[in-house]
Formats: sequence, structure tokens, C-alpha cells
Amino acid sequence: MPFDPTPSDPRSWLFTTPQGLYCAPGDFHIDPAWAVKRAVVTHGHGDHARAGHGATLATRETIEIMKVRFGEELGVTQGVRYGETVGIGDVDVRLVPAGHILGSAQIVLDWRGARIVVSGDFKRRRDPTCPAFEPVTCDVFITEATFALPVFRHPPDSYEIGRLLQSIKTFPERCHLVGVYALGKCQRVIRLLREAGYDGRIWLHGALVSLCDLYKREGIDLGDIAPVGEMGRNPKDDLFGRDVFKGAIVLCPPGALADRWSRRFPDPLPVAASGWMRVRARARQRGAELPLVISDHADWDELRRTVRDVQAPKLWVTHGREDALVHQARSMGVEAEALHVAGREEEGA
Ligand SMILES: [Zn+2]
Ligand SMILES: [Zn+2]
Repeated sequence: MPFDPTPSDPRSWLFTTPQGLYCAPGDFHIDPAWAVKRAVVTHGHGDHARAGHGATLATRETIEIMKVRFGEELGVTQGVRYGETVGIGDVDVRLVPAGHILGSAQIVLDWRGARIVVSGDFKRRRDPTCPAFEPVTCDVFITEATFALPVFRHPPDSYEIGRLLQSIKTFPERCHLVGVYALGKCQRVIRLLREAGYDGRIWLHGALVSLCDLYKREGIDLGDIAPVGEMGRNPKDDLFGRDVFKGAIVLCPPGALADRWSRRFPDPLPVAASGWMRVRARARQRGAELPLVISDHADWDELRRTVRDVQAPKLWVTHGREDALVHQARSMGVEAEALHVAGREEEGA
């Protein structure tokens, strides 16, 4: 660990330790992979938010998400509003919208005239379930690179949702099973369906219910949603009528698409909603008959636009396709390098 942190040398005051990214003058970690004394957390996905820290600071919404996911193992928590500045040690810490999922934030660190922004995961397109990403100019911008290849250009969400609705019209006898991550993607897909005018009941796998309830408590209107529950558990048992699932939309975790669980539904049509659906092999691997490219991460164009918008002379690139983004940023005149942080395996892409 460098002994003499100086503002002009960002590596001297923000660097990686085995636990993750560490801010020395504030004595805290950001999104640590292991339990630490004091953590600042960008958002609730499992590769960023973990239980067991002595104290956790995050947006109020992220703290609520962590309570649902971790219950009592949370320790001391401090939930803050977007834009609020909190002093930790010598450092001013401010959480700014990242546009990724409910509660997601970039961490803006100001220390003795120097500013580093840790973006966590982010996207630039509109998301009806969270406020839009706010570019903050800084000396060093730390970015993810999940989809940092020119092949990743996500189409408009409304177009992808339109393909799902068209499929339901084309196959009115088939149950459309949509694989979505429980946190963020699930609720966004529901909102996008509502915005596209779909007002029918949307059914949920049990694993999705508690986070949908949380989104509702946070004021996000998901319309008529209901757990699948026991309904249709035995394919031969028509007590409640398997017919209700004909032409219906059922959301489930991605893993459930290929699971026995899916067989209870009439002629299920597996759908997956993820940025990875751009890659045919991934769609096949997930068993998706209808792959929808709906991502909570910035695509190639959004990443390049963000590098321009934050005007940082230095870019540190964390998880994903680091090499491609480093190369691209250098060609834009930015001093870029990869930053290897422990414990990032993307959830909710
Ligand atoms: Zn995430
Ligand atoms: Zn992540």
C-alpha cells in the first residue's frame, strides 16, 4: 500500500486490494468482493453488493434491495439520496444515478481537488425503473466493459418488446416463458410491456416475487402481476385450468427456462432478455427460441459516448472486454488502462 497518498497521483489514493477497490484517505472499499470494515456499494447485484460488511453506505433504494436479499446479515447501513454528499474520512462521497437498475449509483470521490468517478455498472438509454445516468466530469473515470466490442449495439427496447408481443399474436396457444434476472431486468421488462400497451396479467416465478414487491413499494407501477404459485403444477391437473397460460407471459429466472419447472406450461416458448442475446451461441445455450436483446449495460456506442461526456484524461477499465475499450479510448486521446478487480462475474447483463 502506498504510504503517501497524493491527489495528483490517483493510483496512490484509490487502488485495488485483495478485497477490491480501496480508497485510502477515506479508509473504505467500493463494491468489495469480501467482507470489509466499511463498504460503499454502487448497486444491489450480487457481484457488487455482498453481506457481512461492518458498515455499508449506498443509496436508500440499494439498502432496501440488500435487506430483501441478505436480511439480518447487513450490519450498519446508511442509505443516502442521489446527489447528497457524505464525508468519509477526508473524502467527499456523492452518489449519482447510473441508470442501471433501481438505486444504482456512480460513486463520485472528491479529495483535495482531485475527482475520481467509479461508475459501477451503467447504461445510457432510458429505463422506466430508475433515473437516467448523469455524466460527471472528472480526472479519472472507472468504467465497466461488459459489452465493449463493436458487435454489441443494442436495438431500441421498444423494438425488442414489439417482437415479443408479435410472437404472442402469432402463437396464441403457446405460453411465452421469458427468462429474466430477478433484480432489474424483470421489472424493466414488465414496465416496457406496460408502456407498449400490454395490460394483461403477467405471471411470475416465485423467485421473482419479493423484488417485484419491493419495486412496487418504491412506487414503480408493474400493473397486474401474480405468482404462478401452485397453478398447473401437475400437467395433468387441470383444476385451475392450464388454459390460463395459453398465450400468457410468464417471467422466470434464466435458469428455469430449461428446467422441469417449465414443463407445466402449455407448449412453452422460451424467450430470453439479455444483452448477450446478440450472440447466437449464447441464445442457443440458454435454449431461447426468441432471444431479445435487452440489456442493463452500456453497449459499444454508449461506452464511447460516455468516455467523451465525462472528459476524463484517464480511464480505468474493469470487468468485461477491457482490451477493446482501452484500445478505443487511447485512440480518442484518453490515457486508458485495465484495472483488475476481484469478484466481478456479471449478474443481470
Ligand atoms: Zn449490475
Ligand atoms: Zn456488475
